[in-house]
Amino acid sequence: MSQNVENIVIVGGGSAGWMTAAYLSKALERNVQITLVESSNITTVGVGEATFSTIKVFFDFLGLQEHEWMPKCNATYKMAIKFVNWNAQKKHFYHPFQRYEVIDGFDISEWWLKMKRNQEAFDYACFLIPWLCDNQRSPRYLDGKVFDNKVQNLFSRDHIVKKNILDNLKVQYPYAYHFDANLLARFMKDYAMQRGVKQIVDDVVDVKLTEDGSIDSIKTKEHGSISSDLFVDCTGFRGLLINKALGEPFISFSESLLCDSAIAMQLPTDIKKNGINPYTTATALSSGWVWNIPLYGRSGTGYVYSSAFISPEEAEKEFREHLGDAFTNCKASHIKMRIGRNRNSWVKNCVAIGLSSGFVEPLESTGIFFIQHGIEELVSHFPKKSCNEELIRSYNRAIANCIDGVREFLTLHYCASDRADTEFWKATKHEIQVPEELREKLRLWKNRLPNNKSINPKYHGFESYSYSVMLLGLNYLPESSLPVLEHIADQNAKAAFLAIQEKANYLRSTLPSQYEYLNYVIKSQEQSEYLNENKIDSSLVSDWANQTTVPIS
Ligand SMILES: Cc1cc2nc3c(=O)[nH]c(=O)nc-3n(C[C@H](O)[C@H](O)[C@H](O)COP(=O)(O)OP(=O)(O)OC[C@H]3O[C@@H](n4cnc5c(N)ncnc54)[C@H](O)[C@@H]3O)c2cc1C
Repeated sequence: MSQNVENIVIVGGGSAGWMTAAYLSKALERNVQITLVESSNITTVGVGEATFSTIKVFFDFLGLQEHEWMPKCNATYKMAIKFVNWNAQKKHFYHPFQRYEVIDGFDISEWWLKMKRNQEAFDYACFLIPWLCDNQRSPRYLDGKVFDNKVQNLFSRDHIVKKNILDNLKVQYPYAYHFDANLLARFMKDYAMQRGVKQIVDDVVDVKLTEDGSIDSIKTKEHGSISSDLFVDCTGFRGLLINKALGEPFISFSESLLCDSAIAMQLPTDIKKNGINPYTTATALSSGWVWNIPLYGRSGTGYVYSSAFISPEEAEKEFREHLGDAFTNCKASHIKMRIGRNRNSWVKNCVAIGLSSGFVEPLESTGIFFIQHGIEELVSHFPKKSCNEELIRSYNRAIANCIDGVREFLTLHYCASDRADTEFWKATKHEIQVPEELREKLRLWKNRLPNNKSINPKYHGFESYSYSVMLLGLNYLPESSLPVLEHIADQNAKAAFLAIQEKANYLRSTLPSQYEYLNYVIKSQEQSEYLNENKIDSSLVSDWANQTTVPIS
């Protein structure tokens, strides 16, 4: 009998289930049958539409190009998160997907503290992306060229990622995506099923364990028992296999992250009239914050709040007031969020991926990033049938480090903000538990901005520039600039600040708007599909037709 895993059963058909099925169907080319069981009675969470810039690696690995999947998922580009009302002055700031330039050995943000602290907003002085966001620009020219020449070659057709491990990634991609969560799950499903993944639509009603506590089989309502070598639990907050059947404890983060509930809505949007913002917005309200995610054709929005400070009815009232009269007829769905992580996300022959593994509020769009990380780590720790304990331990460490790292980064979003005008915002200063290591770092960061040596060293997706951006935006500034800069001539820094402004002016006047660019991609894709379906040789049609065939990766 083979010692290799011969079959895998994934339970759950939300984003986590189908992303896992798609990825595994590509990564495990031979000798394994993947089956996905999903209920038609239990709905998916249906949100999760803003991503993190590393998502590019995921699509690259699947061999999917933007023009193939973006139009089918109503996807748009995201170059930043715009934080609104997160500081006492209620000034907005951007957290872009862009590293700082380094001038004479120091991040340009350190030079900003010395030269421009009281004159210009740090994000507009140090980055290009805020300018592109304000002007609703696309990150790509119509010929497909990405605005940032540092990463252009990574977007060429020839750049194919065979397999990548996120924590080895050395580049900062300049954008992520927004997409319709249900359409993406459907796209992933088609992709996976074309590669042989079998789908069973049924409810899992029981789980049978073996003597050693592994999962022997799941029992479904209509398809009987299904056994497997490896089970992947993608059942969302229920944690049907990992928590309910195997009894793995869930560690709550409620003492440091207060928000535990959300109200989600979909808003119709006139993109022709209003354009499409190339960023997610996070607007702070009395007891949490509201996300706005612009898709091609509608927006997704939601109020993430703490039920200890506001009731669901009051929260919905406040949320609707925030949205204004135009959306009174939009239906709201209330979601209870399970914030924290499993003690272990892999137990015996069961690996939990997605909301069943862990979740922190979606302030930095990390839900889908956790899924991607979980799947990648599963492939790199892929077991034999016997599931080696050391491999399992190593996997669990990587997952816990990543989620705990993000938890710490999100805690900083609250405790470093100087906003304290409501009971909720006061509690984020006085009641939440800030881990001692973070307190220590915060004391250091009052003297100098974070660098890669002073942030959490375990892989969690965020770099020091992100920490620095949040501190500057939240008004947690070092008391003075670095003393050493008084001993270094500042002409290079002056030139760098000027070059950023010149480049920003150039880009905003030459890049197409996001709306123009996406329309162009959609039309070109429709046209090339039409030519393909009708078997028309594109060289025989007009120049116009040839020019509009999308030349992008
Ligand atoms: C309010 C909110 C906002 C979010 N925003 C973002 C964001 O902007 N960006 C981001 O990256 N992430 C975000 N997330 C996280 C993101 O939504 C999830 O990570 C993602 O949708 C994956 O969900 P899932 O597949 O794990 O669970 P679900 O979508 O809940 O899917 C669970 C699946 O399990 C199936 N199932 C359950 N029980 C059974 C059973 N007994 N038998 C058979 N099948 C069963 C269900 O039918 C369903 O198919 C957000 C989450 C929330 C709660």
